Amino acid sequence: MRHPLNRLVVASHNEGKVREIRALLKPYGVRTFSAAELGLIDPEETGTTFAQNAELKAKTAADAANMAALADDSGLAVDALGGAPGIHSARWGELPDGNRDFGVAMEKVHTKMLEVGGVKSARFICALSLAFPAGSVSTYEGKVEGNLVWPPRGEKGFGYDPIFVANGDTQTFAQIDPDEKHAKSHRADAFAKFIAAWFPQEGHSKTPDGAI
Ligand code: IMP
Repeated sequence: MRHPLNRLVVASHNEGKVREIRALLKPYGVRTFSAAELGLIDPEETGTTFAQNAELKAKTAADAANMAALADDSGLAVDALGGAPGIHSARWGELPDGNRDFGVAMEKVHTKMLEVGGVKSARFICALSLAFPAGSVSTYEGKVEGNLVWPPRGEKGFGYDPIFVANGDTQTFAQIDPDEKHAKSHRADAFAKFIAAWFPQEGHSKTPDGAI
């Protein structure tokens, strides 16, 4: 029998994300298409949680492309800021001209943390949703716990990586080797749950119940 995921669309216009997801799916024989290749349009992210936004993106793409779709929504949640920037992580880096500068976003996090004081704990969260056309949607959530540091350190990562140190590490996500980050990141955690659910024969858990 053909696997239900013999082909899918990666519901994102973020080239980095599409590349990362394609690389991940390659060993499983999944034929992937990007949203750009199929001329799909990103919906407005109107959800109030990572899971809601990932589901919205996956469902919209699955219906438009008439094939299974995988979408991710991710960001940084800082405890002292009540979980901000959270689902607005990308927006905090937006400049008036529409470009993004995460130096500005990190500065904003730092300034707000100085205002409120308190703990430096934070986590990266990733919600990964798989939707079928006019059908079911399953969401897998991953996270990595850590602490924020100032000033930013390292050149290797993106987004908020230069101010995030995972628990057990001394270097930021922008200082450690990308392979090391990819092995322990929120995205890796969510992907592991997705793979265990849909490709259990590849040596992962046999119970496809990692969905939230
Ligand atoms: P999204 O594309 O709407 O999911 O926005 C995700 C945003 O969260 C990115 O633009 C980054 O600012 C932030 N983010 C998500 N994952 C990471 C990560 O692994 N490192 C650093 N920042 C991240």
